[in-house]
Amino acid sequence: MKPRAVMDKTKDLRNLLEARDSVEALRFKSLLLDSASDAIMVHDLDGRLLYVNDAACAISGYCKEELLRMRIQDLDANNPEGLTSPRVRPLVGQKTARFDLYHKGKDGRIVPVEIHARIVDFDGRKVVAGIARDISERKQAEEMIKRMAYYDPLTGLPNRALFIDRLKVALAHAKRNRERLAIMFLDLDDFKSINDTLGHVLGDELMREVAERLRSLMRESDTVARLGGDEFTLLLSPVNHEDDAETVAERILDALAPSFKLHDHEFHVTASVGIALFPGDGRTVESLLKNADSAMYRAKEQGRNNYQVYTPAMNAGAKTRLALETSLRHALERDEFVLHYQPQVNIETGRVVGIEALIRWNHPERGLIQPLDFIPLAEETGLIVPIGVWVLRTTCEQNKAWQTAGLQPVRVSVNLSARQFQQQNLVETVTRILDETGLDPGYLELEITESIAMRNAKRTIKTLASLKEKGVLIAIDDFGTGYSSLSYLKRFPIHTLKIAEAFVHDVGGNPDSAAIASTIIALAKNLKLNTVAEGVETEEQLAFLRERRCHEMQGFLFSHPVPGKDIPMLLDAQAVVFIGA
Ligand code: C2E
Ligand code: MG
Ligand code: MG
Repeated sequence: MKPRAVMDKTKDLRNLLEARDSVEALRFKSLLLDSASDAIMVHDLDGRLLYVNDAACAISGYCKEELLRMRIQDLDANNPEGLTSPRVRPLVGQKTARFDLYHKGKDGRIVPVEIHARIVDFDGRKVVAGIARDISERKQAEEMIKRMAYYDPLTGLPNRALFIDRLKVALAHAKRNRERLAIMFLDLDDFKSINDTLGHVLGDELMREVAERLRSLMRESDTVARLGGDEFTLLLSPVNHEDDAETVAERILDALAPSFKLHDHEFHVTASVGIALFPGDGRTVESLLKNADSAMYRAKEQGRNNYQVYTPAMNAGAKTRLALETSLRHALERDEFVLHYQPQVNIETGRVVGIEALIRWNHPERGLIQPLDFIPLAEETGLIVPIGVWVLRTTCEQNKAWQTAGLQPVRVSVNLSARQFQQQNLVETVTRILDETGLDPGYLELEITESIAMRNAKRTIKTLASLKEKGVLIAIDDFGTGYSSLSYLKRFPIHTLKIAEAFVHDVGGNPDSAAIASTIIALAKNLKLNTVAEGVETEEQLAFLRERRCHEMQGFLFSHPVPGKDIPMLLDAQAVVFIGA
């Protein structure tokens, strides 16, 4: 049983609420309306506000007096004119309506609101009574769900689904208006190995910065999306001319060229880009994506850090690549790799002082395949790691065998690819192989290219220092073709600089190349490094190098890379074979 006093009070309240005209009743109803958290507003059919509660003021930022001088459409963010206001329009011809719209507050703040409105008769006049509920939170949640479905959480870029949506829209538009568009497939080079060495936190950060550089290049009407992993797609719509897409591709490669600085480390990231154009290279989402992907693979094959425009021949290429990948997986167990060896000769004495091991693949159907035709694929698939171990072991065994046979001892050089160099256990692997083959570490030289060394210079210094401590020699290969940082070069504990074939090749004809080759020789001398000129083919080139006191040469002029069985003869007859001394 409820106490009598309470029951009486309840009854009084009810009477008050039901009472029509008493001043108290009106005050009480107004109090109730003002305590509602939703905005309640009444306006006439022209939109003139007749009544507003406190919440209407809170949402809009206007006081009651201001609101009562305004019209409802003044609060619409989209500011439709007069009675075409979406606030009123849905009511035409019916009594009630529910809809969402954006409400503009006094300070310009936009608030999404849900409106419930009904037309009521009031003293013979028709007025609209509406309730507006702030739905910011719901909208935010909806927005977030949309973002999750359409955007890549790591970089904030559109994801595959949104990219495909936009491509569909752009294609329809381009077809209607007879416009061209371009799509690009972009894959970062060796990003997996960078990620493996950096760890995922830094790897993610690097990925975000890469995304940011890409985004900053795009026009408003273009889209750059992250498909996942280290793959991005770009939609350029419209493009006026085929060359425009190539210009953008060049700008992308340029934008990635400056090093990325993360937590005191510098990293270099390059990308391979494939381009497909509508309508020439495909008319559907699928065909354009597939063809841009094929073009991207061609860019990888061309040595990465470049772009390629799709040509129909590339699809044939894609099939061959797949077949090649399958057979590459079995090549090691089927013993299909062979090493050829190319002598490095002291220019002054004419003596063979070193030998570089160069891999070839003896393919059962395709014959001898050159390293540039399968090393990139081996890198991508990770097969380079076991292949690299095989090269290292075979070379060390071979050198030890030559020494045991009584030939004059020379150093052998082995090329390391990016992936191999980034292996955590590289130093242990090298040490183990030296132990097992019994080769003195001073007769093994490891070659890394300048760009591999610069990719994470601090880490390079560490790795090279541990290798040096074991007594192994280090050469920087293809010097002059990568990103040079002389300050780092000084800090790398290296033994040899190999001047890239490109400069040696042109020393006779191109003054720039001659100047670069001379500078590299002078620089190396300054750093007390051994210099080896690669790709020496002519007497003229040799004379140039000799004049500048380059220490060693390697090239067809002295010998092509040859099978191991031919090396003893070259080691024996060296001074005689040497030309031009
Ligand atoms: P590299 O280390 O710069 O090797 C020198 C390349 O120049 C070799 O090409 C060699 O045959 C070629 N060459 C030598 N003398 C001359 C010359 O006088 N003129 C011209 N035009 N070229 C000359 P190759 O054997 O096709 O090797 C190409 C690249 O493949 C190598 O460049 C190296 O980066 C990579 N490579 C070779 N073997 C291996 C390996 O065992 N492991 C890894 N990771 N990469 C390898
Ligand atoms: Mg080399
Ligand atoms: Mg080289």
